[in-house]
Amino acid sequence: MTTRRSFIQIIPLAGALALTARSALADAPKVDEKDPQAAALGYVADATKANKAKYPKYAAGQVCSGCQLYQGKATDAAGPCAIFAGKQVSSKGWCSAYTKKA
Ligand code: SF4
Repeated sequence: MTTRRSFIQIIPLAGALALTARSALADAPKVDEKDPQAAALGYVADATKANKAKYPKYAAGQVCSGCQLYQGKATDAAGPCAIFAGKQVSSKGWCSAYTKKA
């Protein structure tokens, strides 16, 4: 049975876990452009270097921070991406899975 006291004890623990998870992600390694998955998706840490010949759907202004799959804050230099689990992508990066934020 969950008493009010035990519930109150859970709240700070949940907050601490959330902070730990966030700082763990902040320490996560950056995606390497040469990583096979990154290369297959044409990921670049600098969107302006996207291979426009190979990925004609790329349009100027498209960056990870504006992508639906980006999970960091727009102001962060890098953040997690749903495609690259356990790693961070550059907020100014781009890959062919880019999907504009709704
Ligand atoms: Fe960036 Fe979106 Fe590609 Fe992830 S899916 S690397 S956030 S463009």
